[in-house]
Amino acid sequence: MAAILGGGLGGLSTAYYLLKTNVTRNSNLKLFLLEATNYCGGWIKSIKTKDYTFEQGPRTIRPKGITGVNTLNMIEDLGLSEHVAPITSEHPAAKNRMIYVNQNLYLLPSSLKGVFQKNLPFSKPLIYALFYDISQPHKHLQDDSIYNFVERRFGKEIADYAIAPMICGICAGDAKEISVKFLMKTLFEWEQNHGGVVKGMMKSMFSPKTGEEIDISNLAKRAQEEKWNVYTIKGGLETFPATLHDYLCQNNVDINLNTRIKELQFVDSGTVLLKNCSGELFNASHVYSTIPSYALAKLVEKQHPDLAQELNEIPFVTVGIVNLYFSSETPLVTPAFGFLVPPIENSPILGVVFDSFCIPDQNGTVLTVMLGGKWFEEKFGENVTEEKLFNVAMQEIGTILNIKEKPTVYHVNILHKCIPQYVIGHYERVGKIRDYIQKNNLPISLVGSSYDGVGINDVIYSAKKQVQEDCT
Ligand SMILES: Cc1cc2nc3c(=O)[nH]c(=O)nc-3n(C[C@H](O)[C@H](O)[C@H](O)COP(=O)(O)OP(=O)(O)OC[C@H]3O[C@@H](n4cnc5c(N)ncnc54)[C@H](O)[C@@H]3O)c2cc1C
Repeated sequence: MAAILGGGLGGLSTAYYLLKTNVTRNSNLKLFLLEATNYCGGWIKSIKTKDYTFEQGPRTIRPKGITGVNTLNMIEDLGLSEHVAPITSEHPAAKNRMIYVNQNLYLLPSSLKGVFQKNLPFSKPLIYALFYDISQPHKHLQDDSIYNFVERRFGKEIADYAIAPMICGICAGDAKEISVKFLMKTLFEWEQNHGGVVKGMMKSMFSPKTGEEIDISNLAKRAQEEKWNVYTIKGGLETFPATLHDYLCQNNVDINLNTRIKELQFVDSGTVLLKNCSGELFNASHVYSTIPSYALAKLVEKQHPDLAQELNEIPFVTVGIVNLYFSSETPLVTPAFGFLVPPIENSPILGVVFDSFCIPDQNGTVLTVMLGGKWFEEKFGENVTEEKLFNVAMQEIGTILNIKEKPTVYHVNILHKCIPQYVIGHYERVGKIRDYIQKNNLPISLVGSSYDGVGINDVIYSAKKQVQEDCT
């Protein structure tokens, strides 16, 4: 019996890959999933009406790279190909991504040509950053913040106006704290091994490629041929975990909703007891934990305080989400993905997504304002109301987008501790945590956004890798 702890995309994907392994190995490992709430999907939640779709968590998935292909393979296998809504690289939502600096919205370059031109707020064409890299000395470091690294190699403007807002958009975090390995592991290795990014890139051109291989489904081929930039799922992204949930039920995975686990007791290397809040005990030979690291820390604290301490060291941030629907026929914003606000602007908002251009079947203008993140408590205190967040969001879009009318419908949500922060030393910490588990022969594997990547693709791929590793 294997237990899957948590029914977000990490837990559902783990069960999916365990089922696939059961089939290929002709094994009959019984699977049960334990989810604290009455819903499977974790942060993925959509509100869908005939006029608009509000995404309260993630909205788009990237098709590129091995992890992107892997997700598309799963989507095809689940029979969801017809529901995919792609945004191709020629679509305005792919080309028009903006930043808000000094009270102006600026388009970020989206083509190679754009890199050779001067684009405000940058004082020089971005290509100059490569000359900067060549002329800079390098520092020997184990890790660094992504901000420091980019400032050192490409200059302060790129760090402030390109990387810092990008980090806000991906993990609502502070680029001055996030590890360079989070997004730029290869570039950092080039600097460390060859003295600079450009030097490393030149050397790598002449080295044999050693990438992982993956089967490519028809859907993933289509994504490559049609040059998808990102995609979403018609009817709301929630359709994805809902379909995965149905697939698991049809294949006899025992899904227990409203089952919050409050303690894990490791009996021996093949027995774990999971105790829920009403004292009920579940017995498993192995546990796949896909709940946030701080939640797992509480469950193992009694037996393994050192492990709990390391798990607790992974920080999380809170994000406010304000979804807005304006029914007026004339669009209130220009076609674009939206804009991000660099932290040096000291704004209460992280950015705004123009959902009417990213999500299909919207009758009017739909926007999502994201607030707080790393700066949530600093900007709003500990007991902020939803009304206050709504007012801040309206004030900001009034100033930045000149939208003065009231929304026809809106929805506010505060997502407490929703995104883990891969701060400097994160990867070493995760290594230490896994070493502890191995040395102590604990029958537990770690999946989910706390460890091997914060995006949907990362979470699904980490479930696959973990299952493969445990079953070999
Ligand atoms: C606002 C926001 C926007 C995002 N945007 C994007 C995007 O556009 N694209 C993208 O790729 N990624 C995005 N992400 C990231 C993406 O949502 C996550 O990678 C993914 O949802 C994480 O899934 P998970 O299963 O690891 O965790 P979760 O979704 O957190 O699931 C964990 C589950 O465990 C359950 N649980 C917790 N404690 C217990 C317990 N003690 N017992 C039983 N169950 C428990 C929880 O109820 C939950 O259902 C976004 C995230 C947020 C918050």
